[in-house]
Amino acid sequence: MERLICTGKKGDFFTISGSEFKHLKALRINKGEEIEVFCEDRLFLVRLYEIKKDHALCTIVREIKVSLPKPEVFLYQCVPTELGLMDEVVDRSSQAGALKLTPVLCRRGFQVKGKVEEKIERWKRISLASFKQCKRPKPMEISPPIRLEDLKPTVEVPLLLENFTGNLTIREINLKASSYSVVVGPEGGFTKEEVELLKSRGFLPLLLKPYIFRSEMAGAIAVALIMNLAGI
Ligand code: SAM
Repeated sequence: MERLICTGKKGDFFTISGSEFKHLKALRINKGEEIEVFCEDRLFLVRLYEIKKDHALCTIVREIKVSLPKPEVFLYQCVPTELGLMDEVVDRSSQAGALKLTPVLCRRGFQVKGKVEEKIERWKRISLASFKQCKRPKPMEISPPIRLEDLKPTVEVPLLLENFTGNLTIREINLKASSYSVVVGPEGGFTKEEVELLKSRGFLPLLLKPYIFRSEMAGAIAVALIMNLAGI
């Protein structure tokens, strides 16, 4: 079923306008058809009531109750020096099932915090577009950036993706937990000191086989593996 984002409310109707209305037209959805609409953080089954020149009106059929899949995976992505690559990170990790993405400022990555903060709204829009496409129950959250030195393990299984010193394979980690975090390095990888710091805080170095992935790919692969192999 097609999924769109509501752009407003008019009495008992949801309105769809702007780019979402263009999407509706492109999908050739007709009056009377049912679609899913995401509105104020909730998902609804709605029926298309009227299509006007620049917007459509929908009536609510019922709210769709969603439940989040287990386990919860939190992705911490060191922002690549090529900042534009984060668009791919957002889209891929959302499809893979990450619950939340936090951009991390590290030694060999993009370090201007203000510029990263300016991108957050754009990344939220990409996350919303991905939510429509992959039919996740909720959009992946995007957190404000943090510095690598401030990273602390807050989940049952904190993981560090490390293609140099990683000695744990995916089947060797605890696959029975309900929450995981994955820290991914930038294009040039972590510094030795960063790896030591994260390990000393309890992050377990995971090695993905058989080759080295690009930074913008590695996190999504790890998240997808955890989502498919782990959980209670
Ligand atoms: N410059 C590094 C090199 O020459 O080996 C490669 C860094 S890799 C492109 C970027 C990040 O992706 C790494 O820091 C790591 O977090 C993650 N990564 C990529 N492939 C990986 C693998 N096979 N196992 C674990 N982590 C990997």
